[in-house]
Amino acid sequence: MTAEVIFGSELAQSMRDEMKEEVSRLKSQGIVPGLTVILIGDDPASKSYVLGKQRASEYVGVSSDLITMPEETTEEELLTKIAELNNDDKVNGILVQLPLPNHINEQKVIEAIIPEKDVDGFHPINIGRMMTGKDTFFPCTPYGIIQMLKSKNISISGKHAVIIGRSNIVGKPVGQLLLNENATVTYCHSRTVDMEKYISEADILVVAVGKAHFIDGTHIKNGAVVIDVGVNRTEEGTLTGDVDFDSAKEKASFITPVPKGVGPMTITMLLHNTIKSAKKSYNL
Ligand code: NAP
Repeated sequence: MTAEVIFGSELAQSMRDEMKEEVSRLKSQGIVPGLTVILIGDDPASKSYVLGKQRASEYVGVSSDLITMPEETTEEELLTKIAELNNDDKVNGILVQLPLPNHINEQKVIEAIIPEKDVDGFHPINIGRMMTGKDTFFPCTPYGIIQMLKSKNISISGKHAVIIGRSNIVGKPVGQLLLNENATVTYCHSRTVDMEKYISEADILVVAVGKAHFIDGTHIKNGAVVIDVGVNRTEEGTLTGDVDFDSAKEKASFITPVPKGVGPMTITMLLHNTIKSAKKSYNL
C-alpha cells in the first residue's frame, strides 16, 4: 500500500481563500477582525513564526499588529500590556509568542489573556470548555489536524487514535479533540512501556515528539492514518518530521508530509479563531 499524502498546504490555501471572502464581507459591515501578536526578545525561530502569522493575516485581510518587547521586559510590564489589549475593542485576538524568557511565568501570561480573546486556545477556561465538548477556541495545531482528517473524509468515530507526545499545546488537546469525535484514544510519552504495541494498534497515529524520524514504518498498522506534527531541522538546514516518511508511506493509507503538512494549518486555524472572535463580539 502507498499512502495518499494529505497536503496541509493545499487545504490551508483553500481555507484562507474562503476566509478572505468572509473578511471582505465582514469589512463591508464595518467589522475588521484584529489580531495582536506580542513578541518578546530576539529568538530567530519565534521571529520567523511571527512573520508567517503576519503574512497570512495580511493575505486574509485580518488586521495584524505586532508588538515587540525587549528580552528584559518584566512580567509586570507584559501583564500590563495584555490588560490594555484585553480592553481594546479593535483587538479580537491576542497571541503571546512562546517560549517566553525564563523570568516570565508562561502560565500567568496565558491566564492573563481574557478567554474571549485567547485565539491560541490555551486559557484553562477554553481548555475546560473543549474538554466538556463545548464550542470554544480550540488550540490551533490540534484543530488543524482535525480539519485535515475531515478534508479527506477519514472516519474518526470508533477508531483507535494513538498520540505520541502529551504536551499541552499539541498532544493532550489533539487527543481530546479526537475523543470529542468519538475516537478511542491512547496517549504515549517518554515513560510509556512497549510503545511499539500501541503503534501497531493505531488506526490514527499522531506523532508530536520533536525528534527527527522517531518513528518509521516498521510497527505501523497497514492502512493507518499517520499525522506527523514534528518539525525538526536537519544538519543540512532542511525541515523534517518525527516520522520517517518513506517507510511509513508504504504502510499507511494517508500520511502528512513535513514540510507542507500540519504546519500551514496551525496559522490557518489561528486566523479562523480570530475571525470567529470578531464575529462573536458583534453577536454574529
Ligand atoms: P514537547 O512539549 O517537547 O513535547 C514532546 C512530547 O514528546 C512529550 O510529551 C514527551 O514525553 C514526548 N517524548 C519525548 N521523548 C519521547 C520518547 N522517547 N518516547 C515517547 N515520547 C517521548 O513538544 P511539542 O511542543 O508537543 O512539539 C512536538 C513537535 O511538534 C516539535 O517538533 C514541534 O516543533 C512540533 N510542533 C509543530 C507545530 C506545527 O504547527 N506543525 C506546532 C507545535 C509543535 P514526556 O511528556 O514524558 O516528557
